[in-house]
Amino acid sequence: MPAETEVLVVGGGPGGYVAAIRAVQLGLDTTLVEREGIGGTCLNHGCIPSKALITATDQVHEITHSEEMGIYAEPYLDIPELFAWKDTVVDDLTGGIANLLRRKSVTLVDGTATFASETSATISQADGETVTLDFEHAILATGSRPIELPGFNFGSDPILDSRQALATDRVPDRLVVVGGGYIGMELSTMFAKLGSAVTVVEMLDDIMPAFPAHLVDPVREHATELGIDCQFGLAADHWEETADGIEVVAENQSGESESFDCDAAVVAVGREPVTDTVNLPAAGLDPGENGFIETDDQGQTDVDSIFAVGDVAGEPMLAHAATSEGVVAAEQIAGEEPTPPSTTPAIVFTDPEVSSVGLSEREAEDAGYDPLVGHFPFSASGRALTAGDTAGFVELVASGDTGRVLGGHVVGPEASELVGELTLAVEGGHDIPDLAELVHPHPTLSEAIGESAENALGQAINTTNKR
Ligand SMILES: Cc1cc2nc3c(=O)[nH]c(=O)nc-3n(C[C@H](O)[C@H](O)[C@H](O)COP(=O)(O)OP(=O)(O)OC[C@H]3O[C@@H](n4cnc5c(N)ncnc54)[C@H](O)[C@@H]3O)c2cc1C
Repeated sequence: MPAETEVLVVGGGPGGYVAAIRAVQLGLDTTLVEREGIGGTCLNHGCIPSKALITATDQVHEITHSEEMGIYAEPYLDIPELFAWKDTVVDDLTGGIANLLRRKSVTLVDGTATFASETSATISQADGETVTLDFEHAILATGSRPIELPGFNFGSDPILDSRQALATDRVPDRLVVVGGGYIGMELSTMFAKLGSAVTVVEMLDDIMPAFPAHLVDPVREHATELGIDCQFGLAADHWEETADGIEVVAENQSGESESFDCDAAVVAVGREPVTDTVNLPAAGLDPGENGFIETDDQGQTDVDSIFAVGDVAGEPMLAHAATSEGVVAAEQIAGEEPTPPSTTPAIVFTDPEVSSVGLSEREAEDAGYDPLVGHFPFSASGRALTAGDTAGFVELVASGDTGRVLGGHVVGPEASELVGELTLAVEGGHDIPDLAELVHPHPTLSEAIGESAENALGQAINTTNKR
């Protein structure tokens, strides 16, 4: 453990560990302190375990819903084995990253970093030793944790947060998910496919409010087909034990109570920044009104020596945003003057998947554009038909004046992969003819992007040119 370092990174999630590697690549002596597990929420309790389980449950669902293809199967699902496999995926990745950090000469410390001043921190190491570490710059990447709803204490089984829901290998017969945001809907879909009877209790009048309604419609419709009962306009208030489980009691907008019997409840009503572990006042840091650390585009806080990246610095609270911010902060500290990306894609791994980058049609109008919109339904895609997965569409939003692509949105198969091309189009300043003229390989889902661009130009080949 050194007494001083050029860059102290606090937190080893996708924001912190990537910032540390970039800082070392740029020749900066870097120390990364992580108190729990390298990889942070994303690798240990979020993106990776959820996507492992979602992929597995998708496979089971697909194979049991392929009669149309002449496939009749009754797979046996060993739940403890499935969850154990998920743990090996997490361990492989986190172990790999810890090795990578060591090989790249990042000084890795197992402990908790607490600011002592603008340029020093107290490190309480896992082995019980406490040392002071002086730094020239610090990158705060302490992430976020689930918001605890009054009346729903996470410590008390059967009330689970997302982390506990992904860790337990118990599949409740009846599950209430409080919160229909992206985490709530991913978990609802996963548990429904594992066999739980799922009820979503949501305060607003739809799921996934961060996305335009027409992107969410196919997800809500298919959730209903999967047996997920979405209850809107209800604020979860408390839970009580019953003779055969628990009931979640919620209040509607008129103040009347409604209750939902279940065996367990997952509460996923949002995430709050983790700042209480670092003693912000000692460094002269003052969080904004909502508790997040405010920064400029390069991640610099009000304190010259301290940067903040990832969830602790607020929306978009996504792993790839944290990574990108970590790289930018490290480069700024190294004097590189990086230009941060102008847009960040968002993905939801529901069934169907949803992905979105840049402006929606409404946002483009609000920004003063007369948008040109292109649309292509997967029901007209050869590849989607061959995969038996035709729900959803690709939508492109462009400037009506210049044709420049402002946004791209996908609901449907592999939306999470297709958004890569759309992100390049938006970030790279490409226009609709670029996408229309690009030769997309056949038969692939990516053809839907080209077709959508042709639709925007009124030149669609495989559809009638109507939206
Ligand atoms: C269920 C779930 C699913 C998700 N799925 C996706 C997805 O599919 N795609 C996506 O992009 N995002 C997803 N996310 C969000 C993603 O996990 C976060 O955006 C991402 O982890 C943020 O990275 P971070 O580096 O800012 O913080 P984190 O990953 O939260 O890491 C912060 C780290 O800081 C450590 N720490 C805190 N205080 C200290 C201290 N004082 N000293 C030392 N260490 C400290 C913590 O132990 C933690 O390891 C998901 C989240 C959840 C909960």
